[in-house]
Amino acid sequence: MPGRKHTSYVIEHNDGLYWFDAGEGCSYTAHLAGLDLLSIRAIFITHPHMDHVGGLANLLWTMQKLEGRNQEKGKELTGKTIPVYIPNMSVWLGVLGVLGGPTGSFDPTFNLDAQTYLDGEIYNKDGISVAALHNTHLGEPGDAEPWQSFSLRVQTADRTVTTSGDVGHVEELRGFILDSDLFLMETGHHAVEAVCEYLKTEGITFGKLGFFHHGRAILGDPEGQLKKARRILGNRVFIAEDGMTLDV
Ligand SMILES: [Zn+2]
Repeated sequence: MPGRKHTSYVIEHNDGLYWFDAGEGCSYTAHLAGLDLLSIRAIFITHPHMDHVGGLANLLWTMQKLEGRNQEKGKELTGKTIPVYIPNMSVWLGVLGVLGGPTGSFDPTFNLDAQTYLDGEIYNKDGISVAALHNTHLGEPGDAEPWQSFSLRVQTADRTVTTSGDVGHVEELRGFILDSDLFLMETGHHAVEAVCEYLKTEGITFGKLGFFHHGRAILGDPEGQLKKARRILGNRVFIAEDGMTLDV
């Protein structure tokens, strides 16, 4: 649907960009929103489904291209290391395969440090930290297999943003959401009203609630769904659209 493409969002903090999921078209949407891809400090992928990684190769390729033309001293990516947190290494190798291709055209002057991750703090640098909590969106892994899907909680000195990623049940995030200034919740697999009722009934305290990764209900009737949500949780609920920016 126009204006509601696949999942990706960016947190801007102290001149750095922190990239969360990379759905199809994310680098172009970021360009339209005036974001400078050379300011990316880290990339976080919640799980390796196509609607969350489909734009990753293009994002990295665009970063390489922009850096190749970059004249601005102090803004260069060259020599820097960008960590890429991704729960599945074979998907990462697939992304690199797409980038290399038969012509081997991907050879950036910056480093990409791809790594899988587990529950707990996975990133802490320049005043921003990110913690992960596994969820059952991709089922339970077999013995000794790692979890493949995570929710993420981002913290600065005075703000907290929690994102569901794709999640089996909102109940899995109960403690994780608590006292977030912003909670971003997917509705690809969840009904808006049920999520709002759960948060209200359980008395979970948080600031704003943004729905993203829209399912059919929101795609079919965004205003109607928003009304239902606001009837339960008030005006602090919103429905995300491509290019939307928000001060937290
Ligand atoms: Zn998804």
